[in-house]
Amino acid sequence: MTSFDTVVVGAGVTGLTAAHRLVEGGQDVLVLEARDRVGGRLRTETHHDSDFEIGGQWVSPDQSALIGLLDELGLETYPRYREGESLYVDREGVAHRFVGEELPVAERTGKEIDRLVGLLDDLAAQMDPDRPWEHPQAAELDRVTFGQWLEQQCDDEEARDNIALYVGPAMLTKPVWSFSALQAVLMAASAGSFTHLVDADFILDKRVVGGLASVPEELARRLGDRVRLRADVQRIEWDPADPDAGATVTVAGEQVRARRVVLAVPPTLVQRIRIVPELPAEHRHAREHQSFGLVIKVQVEYAMPFWRDLGLSGTGFGPYQLVHEVYDNTLHRAEKGTLVGFVSDVNADAMGRLDEDERRARILASVASYFGEQALSPVTYVESDWQHQELTGGAYATSFDVGSLTRYGAKLHEPVGPIEFGSSDIAGHGFQHVDGAVRIGQRLADRILGR
Ligand code: FAD
Repeated sequence: MTSFDTVVVGAGVTGLTAAHRLVEGGQDVLVLEARDRVGGRLRTETHHDSDFEIGGQWVSPDQSALIGLLDELGLETYPRYREGESLYVDREGVAHRFVGEELPVAERTGKEIDRLVGLLDDLAAQMDPDRPWEHPQAAELDRVTFGQWLEQQCDDEEARDNIALYVGPAMLTKPVWSFSALQAVLMAASAGSFTHLVDADFILDKRVVGGLASVPEELARRLGDRVRLRADVQRIEWDPADPDAGATVTVAGEQVRARRVVLAVPPTLVQRIRIVPELPAEHRHAREHQSFGLVIKVQVEYAMPFWRDLGLSGTGFGPYQLVHEVYDNTLHRAEKGTLVGFVSDVNADAMGRLDEDERRARILASVASYFGEQALSPVTYVESDWQHQELTGGAYATSFDVGSLTRYGAKLHEPVGPIEFGSSDIAGHGFQHVDGAVRIGQRLADRILGR
């Protein structure tokens, strides 16, 4: 049986970063990836000669771990197009132009939005995102839903709906009644502040030339034949009487030995693998309380970026719209223009029940409520479909249900015998983002190397 120092399961950014650092540390490493490609939730598809990033794509200035890795790999970035006016579509479906951060809403609603942002900034400032369960108000914030918390703080419905949008549909991609206020504060703290989360120019700042999927592709290129594709790990067995002996990993009927195993998969996918002896009950329960959010990322390409000639940046928000946010997603130096929009949580459920043509018509109609009739005639229309992929199961990432972050959060970071666990879903800084995947991969490698 072949033996390695460490076997890494999963060739997303977490697994590949861990493997890369372990190899730098002198280890003999094998990466096993179930898909026929690396990158996990990062992927570029080509349609009608244009590239579309169907998974993660943006980099923000606080994401220092990812930015450091981009430098190390020699990858370049370019800014998202943001010249001109943004749009806000109100409850009646009327599009209003605005510039800067202040939404074109009634004065009282605007003041309430600012007040809520201030409250959430204060709560986020008191949180170490690596230990959200230690927040001074962790217990009380984890037992109310974010929706309830907003109702307790504010009687202006439109203000609440806009704040809800930034964390619910736009980030955790879950309805605000399904996750706790503490989980919302973690989302803000992981990005530095709530102010950062609501600032599209900050949070969606740059893209990578060639796509963010170049990160895992370049890491895999450097790892060479240490990465094995179509290797769906089925079983990991270790001996509690002798944990230092390592584990046996079974993949496609073959067995390999390793002193340590890194399970670099989302918490929800750990149960696909038979672990012998089975994980302690609390570890299993912790993962049962995690679930993926749901979002359909839609990219619509036009012969040219027509909105720019209308003085529009391509940025739009509509808390009452099917497509709740939209941005200019035109490729670096491309002539054709692309918009990207998102359909989240219960709206994504509803769209999933329609046939393809009806879904496309409804989504394009919503894009047209921002940009007018021209939006109805794209040259290319691409939907990202992560929820139907067994090896992901949703988008963007997983998070806890109400009450579980304080109860189980720390568990997801604990190794069991020779097995380490991690993915962007359990990151503090960069939670749910590629930056978090880099940080977790690095941390797991450091732990194994005894740093
Ligand atoms: P994954 O990428 O999920 O990697 C896990 C890997 O494990 C997968 O390749 C999977 O195939 C493999 N695997 C699972 N089970 C097994 C098994 N039994 N055996 C072998 N292999 C297995 N992040 C940003 O920073 N910016 C963005 O703009 C952004 N937008 C996003 C948009 C979408 C639509 C989505 C889906 C995600 C987005 N994200 C974004 C999130 C980001 O893509 C993820 O947080 C990150 O890529 C997760 O990396 P990971 O390695 O932790 O997990």
